[in-house]
Amino acid sequence: MKSPSGNTHFRAFAATALLLLLLGATVFGIVDRFLVDARANATARELLTALAQLARAEHEAIAVQRAYLLTGDATERDRFQQSLAGVAATNAQLQALVPEGSPFQPDLDALRRALELRLERAVQVVAAHDRDGLSAAQQMLRDGIGLRLEQDIRDAIEVLTRAANTRLVLAEAAAAQSSRWLLFSTALGAPLALLALGLGYGVLRREVQSRQNAERDNEQTRARMQASVEQLTQMSHDMQRLSAYASLLQTCDSTEEALDVTCVCFAALLPEYSGTVYLIGADRTQAVAAAYWGAPHLESLQRIAPNQCWGWRRAQPYLTDSHSAELRCSHISGDAERIATACLPLNAHGLAFGLLYLDGPEPIRSERLAATAAEQLSLALANLSLRDSLRDQSIKDPLTGLYNRRHLEHTLKVEYARCRRAGCALAVLMLDIDHFKAFNDRHGHAAGDSVLSVIGALLAAQVRAGDIACRYGGEEFTVIMPETDIDTAVVLAEGIRQAIADVDLVADGQALPRVTASMGVATIPGSVDTLDELVASADQALYLAKSQGRNRVVGAVSVLDGRV
Ligand code: GH3
Ligand code: MG
Ligand code: MG
Repeated sequence: MKSPSGNTHFRAFAATALLLLLLGATVFGIVDRFLVDARANATARELLTALAQLARAEHEAIAVQRAYLLTGDATERDRFQQSLAGVAATNAQLQALVPEGSPFQPDLDALRRALELRLERAVQVVAAHDRDGLSAAQQMLRDGIGLRLEQDIRDAIEVLTRAANTRLVLAEAAAAQSSRWLLFSTALGAPLALLALGLGYGVLRREVQSRQNAERDNEQTRARMQASVEQLTQMSHDMQRLSAYASLLQTCDSTEEALDVTCVCFAALLPEYSGTVYLIGADRTQAVAAAYWGAPHLESLQRIAPNQCWGWRRAQPYLTDSHSAELRCSHISGDAERIATACLPLNAHGLAFGLLYLDGPEPIRSERLAATAAEQLSLALANLSLRDSLRDQSIKDPLTGLYNRRHLEHTLKVEYARCRRAGCALAVLMLDIDHFKAFNDRHGHAAGDSVLSVIGALLAAQVRAGDIACRYGGEEFTVIMPETDIDTAVVLAEGIRQAIADVDLVADGQALPRVTASMGVATIPGSVDTLDELVASADQALYLAKSQGRNRVVGAVSVLDGRV
């Protein structure tokens, strides 16, 4: 949800503050009004009370005056004097209650004048009594002035009392009204104030919430950016390593070298994963483990049949983790937990060259990286295989699988020079199949070819490691035997001869007669001084073997010695 803008918040705050101010001002006005009405009410009551007190005081003063006139008691006279003082004091209190300019003022003035006149008349009567006796006082009382003045006082008090009562009624009504307004404003104001506070709180809360959200978003964005930077850095490192790996693979001269490079580079590219490279044999019936790196978390077979690996069968990367552990390929075993596996087929140019097996902690990091590296390895294996096959084609004879004449001549030169330099022996064996033309004529050229093929395989199997068996041409073969003296060479040749003579031949399901071969062997050091002489010497020995009846071995020494 989008948070409100700063302007919206300010307007909401201003509205809330204004509402609260209006509310406060209204309540203040109502309370002030109520106080004014209450004061007016109290003043009216005080006025009424003071008027009543004044009437009583005046009445008492007149009563005490009359008591004095009747009794002539000096005590009563003193009380009369005190009453006069009391009336004056009460009148002063009354006058003090009414401020200057009040509507009561004219009536109060009238009351005060009537009161003064009345008291003055009473004092005059008392003075007449004291001076001229009771009859003088009675004479003054009979003229009715005093009674008239009393009536004036009563009238004034009555007018004032009526006015005060009216004021009281009005003040009470106003106070009641103010009370109602006060109640109303309080009843309305409290919820309104609560509402305003709630609104303010809500706005504040949303503001705080939106700030917290923004901060959290910022934090998440920062974390995401940080992760992206780390990821990019990691990717850059990975790309550098991958590029170095690809470059090294391109310069590898052999599959073994490519596998050594793979072990080192994969251990650096995906350090948390152990791996195995399997190479698929030419017959494509199994893949054999050829290179390893890292400490494996699970076990994988040394030899894998196609139906044991989903990656191989489907020709696609096959990955599993702990959620799909039961779907692992059957060449994998072990019960380590939270381990991911990957079987990446090493395919190129539509051919499967091998498999790359990885295992390590799940999830597989840089699955894409592993796949890309596997692609590089696949291409390298394909190129090396192509290179091997081209080299084989150039140096091998397709029918027999042995090295061809060109390779023979090259190798012979190299070995001759090496053995000469090292001062060691070198034997050359020349082999020719006996009566092969007749064999061909009798059984057909195809049968002859199959015989050549069988003898090629037999030669390859018979020679020692380090010996080089070649097809010299036609039905003739040569074996180079470095560091081999004449006696050893003759013994080896004899073994080959015997093996040829013993081999059963079959063509198109038909048994063929056995063939034999004649051989001549020549060696250095001896009586020859050059490579050509060495070969010629072996040829000469072969010729001798033919002339002596075939199916035999002749050593050049016996040729030179003239021994047979
Ligand atoms: P010898 O015992 O004197 O060596 O007799 P030979 O018949 O083997 O010798 P010759 O040199 O007269 O004949 C060689 C024959 O080898 C001729 C040819 O028919 C046969 N030959 C040469 N190259 C091939 C080949 O690639 N395939 C087949 N089937 N025969 C070949
Ligand atoms: Mg021949
Ligand atoms: Mg021959």
